Amino acid sequence: MRFEPTEIARLYGRSRVGVVVHKDLEAVYVNDAYAKMLGRRDVSDFMSDPDMRQYIPPSFHHEADKLSNSFQKSSGFHGWKKVYNIRTDGTPVWMEISDETVEWEGGNAVLTTAQMIDNGTTAMQVDHMLGRSFIGVMVHRNMTALYVNESFARLMGAKDVSAFMENPNILRFIPDENRPRAIRHVAAILSGERRGDRHRVRDILDDGSSVWRDLTDERILWYDGKPAILTTAHDVRDEVEMHQQLVRAKASLEQAVTEVIRMVPSAVAMLDAKLEVIHFNHEFSRLFGGETTDGSEPVFDISALHECCAEMMRNGHGHANIDEMQTPSGRLADIRMNMMDDGGVMVSATDITDHKHKEQMLDTLASTDALTRALNRRGFESAVSRLREIRHLKDKSWLFGLIVLDLDYFKDVNDTHGHAVGDRVLERVADTLRQALRDDDLVVRLGGEEFAVLLPSATAAVTKRIGERLSNMIREIRVPIDKSGTEYVNVTASFGATVGGEGRQKFIELSEAMKVADEAMYAAKDAGRDQLVFRFAGQEQDS
Ligand code: GH3
Ligand code: MG
Ligand code: MG
Repeated sequence: MRFEPTEIARLYGRSRVGVVVHKDLEAVYVNDAYAKMLGRRDVSDFMSDPDMRQYIPPSFHHEADKLSNSFQKSSGFHGWKKVYNIRTDGTPVWMEISDETVEWEGGNAVLTTAQMIDNGTTAMQVDHMLGRSFIGVMVHRNMTALYVNESFARLMGAKDVSAFMENPNILRFIPDENRPRAIRHVAAILSGERRGDRHRVRDILDDGSSVWRDLTDERILWYDGKPAILTTAHDVRDEVEMHQQLVRAKASLEQAVTEVIRMVPSAVAMLDAKLEVIHFNHEFSRLFGGETTDGSEPVFDISALHECCAEMMRNGHGHANIDEMQTPSGRLADIRMNMMDDGGVMVSATDITDHKHKEQMLDTLASTDALTRALNRRGFESAVSRLREIRHLKDKSWLFGLIVLDLDYFKDVNDTHGHAVGDRVLERVADTLRQALRDDDLVVRLGGEEFAVLLPSATAAVTKRIGERLSNMIREIRVPIDKSGTEYVNVTASFGATVGGEGRQKFIELSEAMKVADEAMYAAKDAGRDQLVFRFAGQEQDS
């Protein structure tokens, strides 16, 4: 159709329908209604800046260029459609427009009519709300972008929105191996089969670089009334980089911890929140039975540790110490436990078995006589108080028989046969006493050739009888005095015996009983030796 500008003005000048004639998206004619629709004061205000692109959302610049180009090359009416434009104040206006090719001053132009409609739908809302957002926004369908905002265009490496929309195919951004999955994912959301969610993707930009984005997808109805997907995108490159750094830092820290655990001399293990061993060193394997020879995964027996862990959880202190725990490998260990922030438990254990042995050995050395291995006075006293305590704990009365014995004319043995033979005799006497007595009975070397025997809970009669028996056994001892083993020395001893503890009328302490037995022994010496004298405390004469 051919129009003269004056004719257009006559036809549409006062129309309530907006009319604009434009060439290459530059307005050549506009009526008052159209100028006002787009927020202009009047026609001359509109025409002072006739570039139509300023009203077209950037996502549609490319499309608009293409359309106006094709309209100018063709003829006739191009139908109605709904679009939205952006007013000078930045607010959107939703319009129903028609386009028609017209002849204008020797060439073709496009005549567009526009009527405001009030069914502002998603497309407009999207641009209005998200157009200037720093969050990237894209609307797409069938792997083709229908709309992007400035942030999204930049995120994907485009100069601006319009440049992005020159190639709205978005499949190219997706790495080959992910394409089938992405297509399925998008199709499922589009069909409503599946709700959109947040996911992290790596896209390849046109220049080959890559960008990490967190996406959320949502199904919306686009302005053509058909469903599309609204995708919002965050650039998470920094976050991804930081995460990777953290992962690397954590890995090297873990390696360092493992190395330290391996190196420390005590047993160390880390248990996870389920109390399973996740790190351990060789020493821990040795104590808790995890040693394997064929290189297979060790299996630990840490049931005892589990009990301690349970106790630690109960008491809520976050740490626990257990001394002298018996480990599955038969060792004694001091255990330390600490609860970690993540619910795991750090265990360290020190093997104290050898230390304990040494301690016991020292204790034995300090409490026994080296030559005869009988108790010395110190060992005797502590053994007696132990016995007494045990009786007490068992609620049994504490009474004892006590026998003191001194070898007769022992000096002569030394003088005649030498000190070494004397030593053998002392050893044999101690052996004989031990053999003749029960485990609970105590044998002590009081000094020189003087011994004592304590018989727990023995009565006077029993004490006397045992004393006689010991006397007989000592008389039987034969100690060879030369290498051929044909000549012997034999000895006798004088015995003093008594009873103590919760005796008849009053309680008799060990020290008092010792004195009585000693005196009785001297009485036996005086009476000619090689015999036993029994006395109760407080009694002068033989009983
Ligand atoms: P009595 O019948 O009066 O007891 O006479 P005795 O000779 O046994 O008494 P005395 O006290 O005069 O002598 C004890 C001797 O015991 C003196 C010492 O040589 C000897 N004797 C003490 N301890 C040891 C020892 O460890 N080894 C040896 N071989 N002899 C010892
Ligand atoms: Mg003697
Ligand atoms: Mg003596």
